[in-house]
Amino acid sequence: MSDARDSSPESGQTTFDVAVIGGGAGGLAASIALARSLRSVIVIDAGQLRNSSSAHAHNVLGHEGIRPQNLVAKGRTEAEEYGVTFIEATVTTVHTRDPDAGPAEEVPQYRFELSTSVGVEVTARRIIIATGLSDELPDIPGLADGWGDTVLHCPYCHGYEVRGQRIGVIGTTAMSYHQAMLFSQLSDQVSFIRHNAPAPDSEQEAMLDTLGIEYIDSTVTEAARTESGTVVSLAAGESGDGANALTFDALAVGAYARANADLFAQLGGEVVAHPSGMGTYIPTQMAGQTDVPGVWAVGNAADVSAMVVASTASGVLAGAHVNADLIMESLG
Ligand SMILES: Cc1cc2nc3c(=O)[nH]c(=O)nc-3n(C[C@H](O)[C@H](O)[C@H](O)COP(=O)(O)OP(=O)(O)OC[C@H]3O[C@@H](n4cnc5c(N)ncnc54)[C@H](O)[C@@H]3O)c2cc1C
Repeated sequence: MSDARDSSPESGQTTFDVAVIGGGAGGLAASIALARSLRSVIVIDAGQLRNSSSAHAHNVLGHEGIRPQNLVAKGRTEAEEYGVTFIEATVTTVHTRDPDAGPAEEVPQYRFELSTSVGVEVTARRIIIATGLSDELPDIPGLADGWGDTVLHCPYCHGYEVRGQRIGVIGTTAMSYHQAMLFSQLSDQVSFIRHNAPAPDSEQEAMLDTLGIEYIDSTVTEAARTESGTVVSLAAGESGDGANALTFDALAVGAYARANADLFAQLGGEVVAHPSGMGTYIPTQMAGQTDVPGVWAVGNAADVSAMVVASTASGVLAGAHVNADLIMESLG
């Protein structure tokens, strides 16, 4: 049964079985799995979904093309129906509580204390970090204006919507060649602009050639949205045919995917750099358990490549395992 002492955030100090930090797909799914196991759960969410700049989310089974904010609103309603408490706030600090301090002597298993931007303090037995990641775009003026709309990163999220169109892939790492390869399945008008990516090796050259991907050995100095597409300015004199500006319907770019892991670091955890150079993530075991006792991580915070459904799945799994872990704790 639930060990909730107080589920009203307005009353100040609040104590829950589990505090979920982040209310996107991963955090919401975890909260529902836990609440359905009669656990007291609080979700503290700053409301900055990673995909909020996109009008539609794709490859979300049963919700194809749904607006990201609507999907999360539905999830939140479902969670609230099971009794999950929500606070719209940022968790600013988290620490392991001093076992000798005050009420902790009564409930020593309540090991974490969290502070929020709205002044609410929360105490919890377990923490699930579902804070997502931050996409760091290359520093190209104008590029961020189209993010999630005409500037894309994932062929499975929005590639279908730009099929057959003029797609410019802006290189950032060696993985950008892979990105160009995937987008070439969707259009025969794909150009690869090297920008910051390493020069292609012989295998990459052969791939570009075989798949009919135009190769432009230039850096990009600006991306400007116009009515006829996004005009990409190339560093003078570097383009293949001498032009220093090209127009595309869509740009694909590999943003650096940095895990939102400040709170994990406060607890003594360390992120890991993804071997591909794509970004960082919180290392976990299969069900989201981290090296920090009592702390789980789900969704994009733990997996740079997790789309919505994968983030949801990791949340459900972590919720189930946290519930089992709490049962084990009660057995002593
Ligand atoms: C432009 C774009 C388009 C995408 N399109 C698709 C698509 O079509 N289909 C698809 O499957 N995937 C898509 N994705 C991927 C999708 O966004 C992620 O899979 C999904 O958002 C991951 O869910 P999450 O719960 O891990 O993180 P998020 O959805 O990012 O949620 C994290 C939440 O945690 C909150 N948070 C962070 N730090 C704190 C803190 N300290 N305190 C409190 N709250 C905090 C954030 O504000 C946010 O609300 C897209 C990604 C991008 C960038």
